[in-house]
Amino acid sequence: MATEPLYFTTPLFYVNAEPHLGHTYVTLVGDVLARFWRARGRTVLTLTGTDEHGDKIAQAAAAAGVEPKAHADRVSGLFRSTWEAVGFRYDHFIRTTDAYHVAFVRSVLADIHARGDIYFGSYRGLYCFGCERFYQERELVDGVCPDHRVVPTVIAEENYFFRMSAYQERLRATLEARPALIVPEGYRNEVLALLREPIGDLCISRPKSRLAWGIELPFDERYVTYVWFDALLNYVSALDHLGRMELWPAAHHLIGKDILKPHAVFWPTILMAAGLPLFQRLCVHGHWQMQQGKMSKSVGNVVRPLDMKARYGMDAFRYYLLREMAFGQDAEFSETALVQRLNGDLANGLGNLASRVLAMQQRYFAGVLRPLAPEAPDERLRAAFAEARRELDAHVADLAFHRALEALFRALDHANKYVVETAPFTLAKDEARLPRVGAILHELCEALRVTAQLVEPFLPETASRLAGLLGFPPVRLGELGLPWGTAFPAGHATRPPEPLFPRVEVVPE
Ligand SMILES: [Zn+2]
Repeated sequence: MATEPLYFTTPLFYVNAEPHLGHTYVTLVGDVLARFWRARGRTVLTLTGTDEHGDKIAQAAAAAGVEPKAHADRVSGLFRSTWEAVGFRYDHFIRTTDAYHVAFVRSVLADIHARGDIYFGSYRGLYCFGCERFYQERELVDGVCPDHRVVPTVIAEENYFFRMSAYQERLRATLEARPALIVPEGYRNEVLALLREPIGDLCISRPKSRLAWGIELPFDERYVTYVWFDALLNYVSALDHLGRMELWPAAHHLIGKDILKPHAVFWPTILMAAGLPLFQRLCVHGHWQMQQGKMSKSVGNVVRPLDMKARYGMDAFRYYLLREMAFGQDAEFSETALVQRLNGDLANGLGNLASRVLAMQQRYFAGVLRPLAPEAPDERLRAAFAEARRELDAHVADLAFHRALEALFRALDHANKYVVETAPFTLAKDEARLPRVGAILHELCEALRVTAQLVEPFLPETASRLAGLLGFPPVRLGELGLPWGTAFPAGHATRPPEPLFPRVEVVPE
């Protein structure tokens, strides 16, 4: 069980906006999970990419006065360069305009059509161009799209339909039998509620007369396929392309709650029709709020990851996002709160501990570690960090990143208290007590070493700098998981302290 490979995916991002906080958060979560599970010896593959077909993209390209593909090239490139600049890692970046993806979508469409689950019919419905989907009357709020607050357009046309309703009961039964298929639980309940009403069939084509920017249906060249049918298949087409289909049922899809229905209803029924097993888990996060409403380009309050990195350092930004949001719930983004976390938890908690310990190590022993006290070992710190490790592992498995960091920083609080209680700076005034001072500092260096290891998935740059200050080359970070008291060979020296997190004095409005 614990050796199963893991496949993490972010949603494909529409190339109608530059990377903002929502994109950044979910890509960060993928980066954290990959680092975390790799450090525990698991095989991991991560996928991200861009969704490049559909009305919205055609409109954005037209507004910019360029061809859709040229527009998609530019914005897709912006995502890749941004993730590189902020240090997010992923194994593969897919674009829905990639030839292998187009071929894969066409083959799945042909297959489902041949099985009789795609039929031709006429349709008259309420269409929201922003959402790129038809709405049922009861889904509207006061007659408008709940996301875009616009009256949907009445569209009547002949189209192809996916027989989604044929899989409704099987989906409901699967969701009952597999409670962990959609997490957190509230979203599973939301989907079960949706499935109590008839879900109907899904219109999966758009006439080229209305929209030409899409993947042509293999069985009718007058139509392109619906953008969701195209985009959702990326999770499988990428593996097929990479020759890694053995990872398929191991998929953990990371998504925002605004795209729950396509992922929890369209996607599993498409998989069923295509004869593929369902993903392992749908992991649904809430929205970042700013003042009021969901953050989006149209609202105008965009948080750009590169601005945040320049202003506070990427690790402080990562820490804030992971510590502030309970995965699944909404959270409010505030730079003031970010600065408080930076000055409090990071500078005063972790940064201050590292500075004090490394400074004393220099002052009393020229950086060279002294033995742990063999006759009276200090169990307090060792126990606190062992507990932090256990809690952190359990919380990350549950996607409770805020709790994982809380557990680690509780252990760091213990370490800061341990400095005050043992008072090595007072003991050091008596030369006879120096062996005890050396033992205390050794315990504290162990605490910092374990911190570097545990914090790496969340704050990779900090982990690497901390490892360096402790006298380990960065490449040896993976070896920092050695048992307490065995990591520092005889004569090992730490380096003089450097501030890990410079305090930010100006709190922005
Ligand atoms: Zn809408």
